[in-house]
Parts: sequence; structure tokens; C-alpha cells
Amino acid sequence: MKGFLKSSYLSDYLKPSQIVFNLKAKDKIGVLEELLDILTKLKLIKNKKLILTRIIDRERLESTAVGHNVALPHARVDTDGELAVVVGRSKEGIDFESVDNKKVHIIILVIWNPSLPGLFNHLFAGLAQFLRKSAFRQRILGAKNQPELYKVLSEVELRLPQEDKIINRASLLKKLQDIELKKRKLTKKQQKELEKKANLIRVELDEALVTRFDRLMKRYGFAVAEVEEGVCQSCNINVATGMSSAIEGSNDIYVCENCGKFLVAAKKRSK
Ligand SMILES: [Zn+2]
Repeated sequence: MKGFLKSSYLSDYLKPSQIVFNLKAKDKIGVLEELLDILTKLKLIKNKKLILTRIIDRERLESTAVGHNVALPHARVDTDGELAVVVGRSKEGIDFESVDNKKVHIIILVIWNPSLPGLFNHLFAGLAQFLRKSAFRQRILGAKNQPELYKVLSEVELRLPQEDKIINRASLLKKLQDIELKKRKLTKKQQKELEKKANLIRVELDEALVTRFDRLMKRYGFAVAEVEEGVCQSCNINVATGMSSAIEGSNDIYVCENCGKFLVAAKKRSK
């Protein structure tokens, strides 16, 4: 049935043949091509060229390297199935313009079907949860062969993102706001280009999150507020101490208990 997940474990979408234990490519684009070739060979995707373009567009928006030597390049494209996943491991590491400047050793490439808008969120939330555990990271990076890597990845559960804290999306939400604000000052034609970028972000954020974002934008003209020295920059009221320190240096999204805006950490001012 469309619209429902048939399973809640990554292993239901990932077979051993979808893991490349020793990637040949040495750069980002090369790796993406090598992985897409596997999906083509396995008949999990048809239009490699289109998908590659989509993935690169998404990478330009913001690197999908999530830290801890892991990257999650992805695209939302019509596939026959629900989800096409392929995993590559690079011993030397690939430069993926990661947030922590670390080379990427594990690349999990995901293509998901537009008829399942929430699917990527489930996968992303599940992976993020696992990657937070250092024991899991050590197993994933220390896997000695393909079966070992397959075993550890199979344990990843697809789960709903927690409601009070939306994992790892703050910078993306802020970017969406920047685009929406910029759009107002442009001509119709220029707006079209930005609209494409905005849609790339919209499709991969949780639907409830986007709805709430749009409502705030409509009502107040903006939806995301920065927290500076513990103070919400929208309502000028101190956010709870625990929340403030959690936001600091994190890419998670929180909501101001006072004004209801999404809270993100203020960008560090350069000297
Ligand atoms: Zn506030």
C-alpha cells in the first residue's frame, strides 16, 4: 500500500549486494557515480544521469556529510520501489566538505520515492540516533569486511523523529528562511530559481515542521530565531538554561517556549 512503510529496519531495503566495501573512486562525484552504477546494475534505478544531477544539486545546497566520517547523499526521485539504498566505504576517505572537516569513510546514498514523503525523515532520524553512539560508529568504521559492515548497518531502525527535538535540521530550516526572505525582493524569474532550491529543502523536512514553518512565516514574516547568549532574538526572553546549552553548537531544532519560533544557535561571529 502506498504511503505506508512496509518495514522499519534498514536491512529490509539494504542487501549485501548493495554494499561496496572498497570504493575505487577517490573524489565525491566519482563516488556518487560508482554507487549509482551499482543501483543501475541491480535495476533499483533507471535514470542515473537525472539522479546524479539531483544529488549534486542537493550537495551544493549543503553538504550531506553529517560528521563522524559519514555522508548521506540523497535525492527524491520517482523509483519503482519505496527506497533505493547503496552504501560505499572508502579506506582513504573522501573530501565531502563535511561540517567537522573530517574525511568521509562511509557513504550511504539514498533515493526515495515522492509518494513516501516521510520516509527519508525516518531513515535520517534512525541513522542520526545510531551515529550518536560511539560504539556504533566504531563498529561501522572498524568493520573488517563486507559481511561485518552489512551486519551493523542492518541494525539501524527507521523511526519517527522525536517531536520535541527535530534531529539535525536546524541549518536547513534556517536556509529555507533565508531563501524565502530573499525571494520577496526579486523578480518573478529570479524567484523561480530560488523556488527550486527551497523545494529541495521542503521535500526532505518533516511535513509537520514545514507546515508550522509556513504558518509562522505568514503570520510574523519569519519563523526561525537565533539564540544569542541564552536569549531568543525574536522575543528577547531567556530560553531555559538546559535548552540554551543544548542548542549551542548543535544542529537540532528547538522551539521557543515563549514565542513559538524555531530556535537555532547563532552563527559564531568572525573576528
Ligand atoms: Zn522567543
